Amino acid sequence: MKIHEYQAKAILKKYGVAVQDGVAIKSIDEFDNAVNSLRERGVTQFAVKSQIHAGGRGKGIVYNKNNRSEVVVNGGVKFFGSNVEGAKEFASKVLGNILVTHQSGAEGKQVQTMFIAEGLDYKKELYLGILLDRTNSKDVIMASTEGGVEIEKVAAETPEKIIKVWIEPSIGLQSYQARELAFGLGLEGSAFKDFTKFIMTLYKAYCESDASLLEINPLIITNDDRIVALDAKINLDDNALMRHKDFEALRDLNEEDPLEIEASKYNLNYIKLDGNVGCMVNGAGLAMGTMDLIKLAGGEPANFLDVGGSASAETVENGFRIILTDPNVKAILINIFGGIVRCDRVANGVVQASRNLNLNIPVVVRLQGTNAEEARQILNDSGLNLIPADTLQDAADKVTQALAK
Ligand code: GDP
Ligand code: MG
Repeated sequence: MKIHEYQAKAILKKYGVAVQDGVAIKSIDEFDNAVNSLRERGVTQFAVKSQIHAGGRGKGIVYNKNNRSEVVVNGGVKFFGSNVEGAKEFASKVLGNILVTHQSGAEGKQVQTMFIAEGLDYKKELYLGILLDRTNSKDVIMASTEGGVEIEKVAAETPEKIIKVWIEPSIGLQSYQARELAFGLGLEGSAFKDFTKFIMTLYKAYCESDASLLEINPLIITNDDRIVALDAKINLDDNALMRHKDFEALRDLNEEDPLEIEASKYNLNYIKLDGNVGCMVNGAGLAMGTMDLIKLAGGEPANFLDVGGSASAETVENGFRIILTDPNVKAILINIFGGIVRCDRVANGVVQASRNLNLNIPVVVRLQGTNAEEARQILNDSGLNLIPADTLQDAADKVTQALAK
């Protein structure tokens, strides 16, 4: 699960990680209060930061939500120093409009929350990231003196500028490793000391919140030599969310695809893609294999959909409905392997759903496994225009042929 910068910073703050402070607002009416409460904490300079689930906000472009060709302002994150009027004007212009960044996709994201942050003066921007290195089965901490820029670019052009430290899971991050990172970043004096403490608490926050990614870009050295997280990105591991009931409130449905939200209500694992062949499959591996074969046959999958191990008539109908909500879908391929689930039940589900939904696009059905023969009979007897297929290849060919007609 992705969360916003201000939410990530709130988690880090609880652990005692030094972060750029701030107050999140949802409407410009809350701006003055936010500034006043920051002033009470001793803040005299301000930065205004659009909250969307995508990076690169600083270099993004804000477009008018009613007229997508009109640029409202360049940059979704700005530092205003002590110019509070300027900060307020910027916040009021951006709130509600669309921010497009290199990570948001061309359609961009609507800015519904603004983080009114303490503005900091710094002399250096660093990069710090923690994630699971699957090849080594260990967490890896990556640090670089090249902060503030895209780390992918640094990795591609000057990989030697990224220092990596792998953490032995049984003993955790060791202080010598924290020093190794600090030396690698060329830190000295109080910044050196501050950093080693920073990374130890940061790693603790990463582990205890079951994050799958924690990225601080930039990590800054302030003019008075403090180490502070100016930006923060945390991805939480969905599989561990049951251990963190308080994280549920951090989910922002505005940032998610509406179809994916609908699918998750029925325990369907749906991911929208750009093609025109809707897919309904049981099992993630089979779903990926099916998508590969559709592509090989010259088609483009419109989605990934894993209906799970217990596909019932109801699941099939919900699956159909979600697939058909995508106007790009011009044909559907159903590929179900009957193991625990019986093919005849799936076939009944397909027939029932096709009738209920008045399906009028070609549907290729491949059912193999338990009671496949009965299933075939049910599809044949239905009188509906369902195209049966035997093998996966056969199904992929038939669905691309049906599209060509
Ligand atoms: P991103 O573009 O989405 O990664 O957003 P960041 O939070 O990293 O902010 C983008 C840039 O805004 C930073 O790299 C800084 O250059 C600038 N910025 C953000 N906050 C401050 C601040 O408090 N002071 C100064 N001087 N610049 C800031
Ligand atoms: Mg950043």
